[in-house]
Amino acid sequence: MAQKISAPRGTRDLLPEDALAWERVEAVVRDLSARYGFERIDTPLFERTELFARGLGESSDAVEKEMFRVSGGKGSEEELSEWALRPEPTAGIVRAYVEHGLHVRPSPLRLWTMGPMFRYARPQAGRYRQFTQWDVEVIGDPGPMVDAELIELAHRFYAQVGLRGVVAQLNSIGDGVCRPRFREALLAYFTPLADRLSADSQHRLRVNPLRVLDDKELDPALAAGAPKSLDYLCDACRAHFDGLRELLDRLQLPFAINHRLVRGLDYYTRTTVEFYVAGREGQQDALGGGGRYDGLIEVLGGQPAAAIGFGLGIDRTVIAAQAQGAGGERGPSVLAVVSASPNALAGRLRIATALRDAGVPVRVDGLSRKLGRQLESAVKAGAGWALILNDPEGERLTLRDLASGEQRDLALDQVPAALSP
Ligand code: AMP
Repeated sequence: MAQKISAPRGTRDLLPEDALAWERVEAVVRDLSARYGFERIDTPLFERTELFARGLGESSDAVEKEMFRVSGGKGSEEELSEWALRPEPTAGIVRAYVEHGLHVRPSPLRLWTMGPMFRYARPQAGRYRQFTQWDVEVIGDPGPMVDAELIELAHRFYAQVGLRGVVAQLNSIGDGVCRPRFREALLAYFTPLADRLSADSQHRLRVNPLRVLDDKELDPALAAGAPKSLDYLCDACRAHFDGLRELLDRLQLPFAINHRLVRGLDYYTRTTVEFYVAGREGQQDALGGGGRYDGLIEVLGGQPAAAIGFGLGIDRTVIAAQAQGAGGERGPSVLAVVSASPNALAGRLRIATALRDAGVPVRVDGLSRKLGRQLESAVKAGAGWALILNDPEGERLTLRDLASGEQRDLALDQVPAALSP
C-alpha cells in the first residue's frame, strides 16, 4: 500500500460529525451580523507581508514569529517574503477600505467577515495554525457607545451558541497623547528588573515595552507592581473609558479590569477587550478579543478614522460549547429511498429526485441488495424514515418510521406532509 499522507501540523479536519456544531455557530454569526446591521466583506486569504508588518506592527508576535509566508511558485527569496497568509482580518479589511475609498460611504461603516486565519506558531490544545474567526469592524465611530455595543454583541453571540459563564476583561491602553508616558513608566520600572524577565520579554522591553505585560511567563509579583495604563490616561481617554464603563453598567454587562490586557498589536488605542469562560482566564484560552485601532487607517494610507474591531474565535467557541454539553443535537432527519426489489435502482433514483424537488432531504440506496440490508444501512446512516418502493417503478409506496417501525402506504405527493412533525 502507498504511504499515507497526514494533515499539516496544527490543522484540523472538520468531519461530518463536527459539522452540525459549526453550522449552528455559523447560523448565529449570520443572524447576529444581520440583526446588528453589519455588511459582509471578504478579502483575500493572503496579502503583501508589508501590510501585516505595517498594520500589526513589526514587534507583534503575529509578524515577528508567526507569519505564514507563501511562495509565488518559483519560491525565490524575494517571493517568499512578499506574501503571507493573513494572521488576522483587520489589516486586510482596512487595506480594502482605503483601496476602494470606502470612507465616502455613509459613516460609520459596519463590516463583518468570517473565515480562516493562519499563524505559524507551535500548535497546542486550542491553538492551531489555521483557525476561523468571526470578525466585526466599525469604522468611523469614535465611541464609546459602539465599544459597549460590540461587547454586548459578543456576549449575545456566546449566549446564543449555548456557552455559559463567559466573562469580559477590559482595559484601556490610551492613545498617542498619553501612551508615551505610560511606555516611559514601564521602561523605568522593568529596565532595572530586566534579569528577572524572560528572554522574550527582554526583547519586548526594547521594541515594545507594553508587551512585557502580556508575557505569560511574567512573574505575577512583578506584574502586580507594574505601572497601570489606566493611571496614565489623558483626559480624553479617561472620559472615553469612564463612558464605556457606565454604558456597560447600564446594560448590566459584567466585566473585570485586567491591567495586563494590552493586546499584541501596535495600533490598538484605548479600549482592549478579551472574552473567556470564567475560571479559564489563561492567555491560551481567550475565546475572542478586540479593541480600538484609531491610528491604523492613517498608517495604511487612508484618511484618519476612529475604528474598533472584534475577532471571535470559532474553533475555541465550538470546543468550549461542546465541553459544556451544548450543540449535541442531531440535524434534520433524512428519508432513505429503498426498494423491495434489489435491482430497482432507476425507480429509486426517480422517486428520490422527485422528493428532493419537493424539498425533502433524501439519501438514496444505490446498491443492488435485499430490502432488509437496505433498511439496516438506512438506520445505521441515521435516517429517520425509509420510503419503500413496493414495485420497481414505485407506483405503490410504503413509508416506514425507522425509530418505531410503524408503516403506512401512501402516494408520492403525500410524502412531504407525512414527514412534517
Ligand atoms: P487574537 O487576535 O489573537 O486576539 O485572536 C482573536 C481570537 O481568535 C482569539 O481569542 C481566539 O479565540 C482565536 N485565535 C487566535 N489565535 C488562534 C489559534 N492559533 N488557534 C485557534 N484560535 C485562535
